[in-house]
Amino acid sequence: MGARRGRAATRRGRIWGYGNGLRRGIAAGAVVSLAATAPAAAQDTGGTSPEAPSSAPKLSAPPPGVKVRPAPVLNSWRCVRGCQDTVTGSVGARVRVRGRALGRTYEVVFLGAEGVADDVAAAPLRRKRNVVDVRVPLGAAPGPLLVAHHDGQQSAPSATALALAPSATLKAAGGAPTVEVQVQSRRAFFDAELPARASYILHGDAPATVTVELVRASDGAVVVRWDEGEVAPEQPRTLAWDGMADGRLQRSGRYAFRVTAVGADGVQAISAQAPEKTAPDPAQLHFLGHEFPIRGPHYYGEHAARFGGGRGHQGQDVFAACGTPLVAARGGVVKFKQYHGAAGHYIVVDGVRTGVDYAYMHLRDAALVDQGERVHTGQLIGYVGQTGRASGCHLHLELWKAPGWYDGGSPFDPLPSLLAWDRTS
Ligand SMILES: [Zn+2]
Repeated sequence: MGARRGRAATRRGRIWGYGNGLRRGIAAGAVVSLAATAPAAAQDTGGTSPEAPSSAPKLSAPPPGVKVRPAPVLNSWRCVRGCQDTVTGSVGARVRVRGRALGRTYEVVFLGAEGVADDVAAAPLRRKRNVVDVRVPLGAAPGPLLVAHHDGQQSAPSATALALAPSATLKAAGGAPTVEVQVQSRRAFFDAELPARASYILHGDAPATVTVELVRASDGAVVVRWDEGEVAPEQPRTLAWDGMADGRLQRSGRYAFRVTAVGADGVQAISAQAPEKTAPDPAQLHFLGHEFPIRGPHYYGEHAARFGGGRGHQGQDVFAACGTPLVAARGGVVKFKQYHGAAGHYIVVDGVRTGVDYAYMHLRDAALVDQGERVHTGQLIGYVGQTGRASGCHLHLELWKAPGWYDGGSPFDPLPSLLAWDRTS
C-alpha cells in the first residue's frame, strides 16, 4: 500500500493517476442518470446463472441518457494578486488556474508536501470553463495544486509548486483585533483518514482570548466549543473535529466554525463570513457520513442489476470501467476478504457506528486491505473489476443490517443510499 502514503493519496484517498486512461475517451463524470437503461447484466453471489446476458455496457459507449462529464485539466497557474512573483504569494493571495473543464471546480487543493496531512483546499472565487480563481487558504503549505470536481474527479498536480511568502500583517483601524477562519476542505467524511479541520488566525497588536464554536447551519446550534485560551496574533492555528459531540455522531449537513476573540481591553472580534458575495463561506463545511465508493464515471444497472432483480439479487450493480478506484463508503473493520466463484474478489466491511455490513464484490484483484484491518471512509480498497460471475465491469454492493452479512442479518436495497452518497460525494 505504498501508494497511499505518497502524493498519490490524500485526504480523500486521492488517486490522481487513474484518470489518465479515462480522461482521453470518456473522461467523465459521475453524473449519471437513472434513465440509462443498462442491459441486464446483473450478477450476485447466489442464484444468478452464468448464462445471463453478457453484453455488458462499456462506459466508453454509455447508454442513451447517460451524461458524461470531463475530468478537470490543469494546464498552468500563476499568482495574480497579492503576490511576490508569479509563483509566490502569501495567504490570501489570488491565484489564477488555467486549464480545461474547470467550470465545475469544487475546490482547488494546495497539496503541500507529500502525503495528506498538510493538504488544504479552497473554494473557487470565480470559475469558468478555462479559468478558476482561488485564494491561497490559511494553513496552505508550499507545493503543487490540483483542481477537484464535486464528483471526485481531479486534475493531475500542477508541474509548478507554489512558494509561500510570509503574510503581511493586517492591522485593523484603531488596533481592534480581527479573526479569519477557513476550513481545510469543503467536505469532511466521518471516520476519514483526516478529520474535519479548520485554521484561524488572529490579526491585531496583542494576544486575545479565543473561543471556537462549531455551528450547525440548519438550526444555528453550537455543537462543539473549543476554549483556546490566550492566542498570539498572526500565528495560524488549526483544530480538528471528528464528527462527534458528547459521544454522539452528528448528523450529515453543513457546519461552520465561528471564532470569537476577546482582547485584554474587552474588545471582541468575531470571524467574518465570505469575503466575496459569490464565494462560499470559507468557514463552512459539508459533513457527510458516507463517501460514494466509485471514484469515476459510473451508472446504475437496472432490472436484474437492481436489488431483488433476477434471481435473488441481493445488491445493486453499479457499472464503471474496470480499474476505476473503489473506496470504502464507510470506515470500519474488514470482516471478510475472500474469493468466491460468483462474487469474485470481495470484501465485507463492518461499518463503524452503523451496524451495517458493506460488501463490495467483483473487484479486479484481491482487495488492498486485509481481513481484520481497520479501514477509513474514502480509503482505497481496490478497483472495479469483473471477477467471479460478472458480465461487464461493475461493483456489486450489498448492505446488510446487523448482526451482519450471512451472520443473522438481512440485506436491504442499497440504491437509495448509493444515490444519496452520489449526490453529496
Ligand atoms: Zn450484482
